[in-house]
Amino acid sequence: MECYFSSYDEFKNEYENYRFDDCSDCEGICELVESDVTCIIEGKILKFSPILILRCKKCGKEFLPEHTKQMIDGAYRTVVKEKQSMGEFHPTGYKKKFDYCIQQDYEYDHRDYYNIPGLCYDEEHSVEGFLTPVYFEKEALVFFLAMPEYEVEIFSESYGYIAKKDSSGLYQYDWNIPFGFNTNGKLIMWLGDIDEMDDKTKGILKPFNVPSDHLMTDSEFYRAQMKCIFSEPIIEKRILINKEAFISNIEKKYSIDLSHLTDECQEHEKKVKRPVVFTETAVAEVINAYDKILVEGFNVNELRKLYEVLYDPFERNAKYTSWQSIKLLEAILGKLSLSVKNMDIASVMSPLYILHDYRILLDHLLSADKIYDTKQHIITTLGVQSFSDQEAIYNEEIKRLNILFNYIGILSK
Ligand SMILES: [Zn+2]
Repeated sequence: MECYFSSYDEFKNEYENYRFDDCSDCEGICELVESDVTCIIEGKILKFSPILILRCKKCGKEFLPEHTKQMIDGAYRTVVKEKQSMGEFHPTGYKKKFDYCIQQDYEYDHRDYYNIPGLCYDEEHSVEGFLTPVYFEKEALVFFLAMPEYEVEIFSESYGYIAKKDSSGLYQYDWNIPFGFNTNGKLIMWLGDIDEMDDKTKGILKPFNVPSDHLMTDSEFYRAQMKCIFSEPIIEKRILINKEAFISNIEKKYSIDLSHLTDECQEHEKKVKRPVVFTETAVAEVINAYDKILVEGFNVNELRKLYEVLYDPFERNAKYTSWQSIKLLEAILGKLSLSVKNMDIASVMSPLYILHDYRILLDHLLSADKIYDTKQHIITTLGVQSFSDQEAIYNEEIKRLNILFNYIGILSK
């Protein structure tokens, strides 16, 4: 990037003009990126290699963020003081540490806090640095998904919360904090929020901590946290959101379009809501809608293509060409979760097999024996006392589908 100011006053005008995350030219979203910058102020040439700037994702226009302008101002003053005509500046690697999570000493970049629009203008927290993004591998979240004392919920493609349940039972949670994903698939939490977690959880997070890649403004998380553009959807909708996230992640990564019968899926999605009365018919109707969306709503041929991308020829199952959606999804999840320790794929996949059982039940030509067996299979799998407890069956099935699609949504990023 090159920027030219004929006078110091002109630069000061720019310095006083606060740059936001939306591009002033095209209203696209600007992300913070590293770039070499040459800045000329009143004939003095200042070279930075590199420094952080804001770049519009739509039109490519570049802007100087707040902290970078402060750096440029300092550099200009140095060059003038030393009576030079130019100066070259390289990052010193200096990392300022804020008064949060001192013991864990997480890696983060204080320049994100000062440069990403809005973060340091935080009047809610008296200690500086609360809204500093800390970046983690997404596997951290997968770890918490598997632990019963934590609750992880994802509301949208890139926004959710993680909570620790209160063991005393007095409150719902010990703590509950939001997280997001950036466009690079990195998990982001605020430094000040992490500080509110217990030490054990902070320790679990530590090995997943990665250096900042500065990306965050193009995320639901940033929009929700900074601009409050957000409402929390019900669990039934979250399952659908994660299915869509999975399809779009795979499309972006492998150019494979897993969607199937999109119009029909939308029709069935209208039926996806919590039943008011838990009769067998009402529950069967919702569960059947899920079967149409979550099993038949995937293109089997494209799932098979994805399987072939993920598995080398010698690794493939001899029968995979005859597999249908559930088996293929199971194998795909198995591959995507390779980096996750101790994940019980069979149990995570169980809600899809239940959907299949329900479809058998709805087939009216069944013998009484077969109906009995299928019902028994449903209650044993879900750990429910009796088939007449439809509310328990429904709640357990939805809970498991939510967990499964949380995994699928996160691991495909
Ligand atoms: Zn633009």
